[in-house]
Amino acid sequence: MKKLFLISALLLTAHKCFCWGFYGHKKINYLAVFLLPPEMLSFYKENIQFLSDHAVDPDMRRYAIPEEGPRHYIDIDHYGKYPYPELPHSYDSAIAKFTADTINAYGIVPWWVQTMLGRLTFAFKEKNQVRILKLSAEIGHYIADAHVPLHASHNHNGQYTNQNGIHGFWESRIPELLADKEFDFWIGRAEYIKKPGEFIWARVLESGAASDSVLRLERELTKTYPTDAKYSFENRNGVIIRQYSTGFTVAYNNLLQGMVERRMRQSIFAIAGFWYTAWINAGQPDLKNLTNKELSAEDVKEFEELNNAWRKGKVVGREHE
Ligand SMILES: [Zn+2]
Repeated sequence: MKKLFLISALLLTAHKCFCWGFYGHKKINYLAVFLLPPEMLSFYKENIQFLSDHAVDPDMRRYAIPEEGPRHYIDIDHYGKYPYPELPHSYDSAIAKFTADTINAYGIVPWWVQTMLGRLTFAFKEKNQVRILKLSAEIGHYIADAHVPLHASHNHNGQYTNQNGIHGFWESRIPELLADKEFDFWIGRAEYIKKPGEFIWARVLESGAASDSVLRLERELTKTYPTDAKYSFENRNGVIIRQYSTGFTVAYNNLLQGMVERRMRQSIFAIAGFWYTAWINAGQPDLKNLTNKELSAEDVKEFEELNNAWRKGKVVGREHE
């Protein structure tokens, strides 16, 4: 009986976490607010809970619509070797060369971030408060995903190298264990991003370049680490969860030499920069003077539907753990 319970818990957790994990995404959006200039800061601070809570909406949407999945990653190694000269950075050139189906199948995160920037800029121009907040929360999600090395690798969960689970290990387990206690989130100020396309492509290329070490270092550590100490079991609200042990997590984080912390910091810096850039490009609207301040019945319904789809727990389209 106990065994059954454990197995179902494992399946459940395997399905429900990806990207920076809910903890990471919420924290990253939250912290990005504090980098903003005074003209934006008070509005974003007033709505910081919303921006943090809704940082995970794009992940929940993966349970609702199949088009959502590819917006979170790009299997950039499908296109050759770093720095992937075969893959055009312009979306139009990329689909002309590889077809829209192929581009979509291997993920579109660097282009989707730019689409979201356009939408957010338009929401600022319209002075539409609800749209500004929803799009700010969501672009934060995609930008943070672009910073995760395994979001830029076809071996995204170590499934080809017998390292299943490494995705959540890197981006959920490490931050959950160490971010509050040990990571430094003093980051400075948001900067205007002159070339958003180049900026996000540079982050994605860094992710692609780092994915090899993310996988290799875990493999090497596993070889030398006592087998029975790699995982631990924890009782969370009556459910037994298997997870990478504290010792193994700390050892891996040390081998990574601050990579997770660095990528979290860069995510926060990038998100604040994109928010700031959208606001500047929209002509610096006065955020004390916005319209459409209340969530509509449709907005509320959309949030409920996202939540329900997520609770049912079946990703539509490809898993990317
Ligand atoms: Zn995601």
